[in-house]
Amino acid sequence: MRRLDRETVDRIAAGEVVTRPARVVVELVENALDAGAERIEVEVTAGGTERIRVVDDGRGMRRADAERAVERHTTTKLPDGDLRAVETLGFRGEALASIADVATLTLTTNDGGPRATRVRAADGDVTVEATGRGQGTTVEVTDLFHNRPARRESMAAPATEFERISDRVAAYALLRPEVAVTLTHDGRRTFATPGSGSFADAALAVYDREVARESTTLDAGASVPMGDGEASVGIRGLLAYPSITRASADHVRVAVNGRPVAMPGLRRAIARGYGSLLPGDRHPVAALSVSLPARAVDPNVHPTKERVAIRAADAVEGAVEDAVADALSTADLRRSADVAM
Ligand code: ADP
Ligand code: MG
Repeated sequence: MRRLDRETVDRIAAGEVVTRPARVVVELVENALDAGAERIEVEVTAGGTERIRVVDDGRGMRRADAERAVERHTTTKLPDGDLRAVETLGFRGEALASIADVATLTLTTNDGGPRATRVRAADGDVTVEATGRGQGTTVEVTDLFHNRPARRESMAAPATEFERISDRVAAYALLRPEVAVTLTHDGRRTFATPGSGSFADAALAVYDREVARESTTLDAGASVPMGDGEASVGIRGLLAYPSITRASADHVRVAVNGRPVAMPGLRRAIARGYGSLLPGDRHPVAALSVSLPARAVDPNVHPTKERVAIRAADAVEGAVEDAVADALSTADLRRSADVAM
């Protein structure tokens, strides 16, 4: 048995984070959100296999930070190195370095000063130059997996890779309606949310008029027992009426403290809230944003943070189920039949 050297450990970790184009998109979108962006534009070519570009109007970086951002384990998000206090989506300082390991990464950024900085990382070389750009950051990723033949081979057809990207970007667009999110594939606009803060506006942009019309929004609060005390749970979002169903649970979307997560327990809680209103083999369309005190959530349990650990998960799931059931029982489910829009 032998101990892996540092470089190998790093490569394994990089491979874990960057497995396919959609992972790259998710990491870049989360960085944009962490930078306080109000607008995020995601543009991809050939399902992200040729090019991925994410443009934001967030706080940007000054030159020294931009240079360091592409190095491993460099982050500006851990003020005192305390993992428990993290409120940002990122914190490991790994994403940009991992992407630069397996692709050509160009980052153009301006923190509001007179000049912008362009950092290009490819094949282990980093070049830095001054350039022009308004405040915000653009990250462009090309040649994905050029040095990882196995990963390149295992990428699906562009249409399939784009479906995954679209599903992930839609989750951020629906669950963070205060941010204007646009998605463009091969020069064609897939959707653009207005960033109005309204879950219904975001649903109208991502889905269609039918889903937006046949749905209700909810904004509920509950208190659940946690440890010695109580924790308050905020539950906001949109529930399509049971007249709209899907064959898979992919359209039941949940965010925990602003991070879209794939958590079967929360999905099932939403389905239980719909109860018998849904035909047995069908799933609803829903986007719910669950807010918990930071101490109740540990995001450090999964390499891509797709799952988080929630303290008192049963009680939180119960609160979600009740909020969904209440919202559907007070909504006028016949509204769509009576009112033409
Ligand atoms: P992490 O998000 O875990 O900190 P990343 O590798 O994703 O690690 O990013 C490294 C650092 O680069 C971040 O901590 C942040 O300071 C900076 N950064 C990355 N993307 C952006 C962006 N879009 N806007 C502003 N700063 C960014
Ligand atoms: Mg990050």
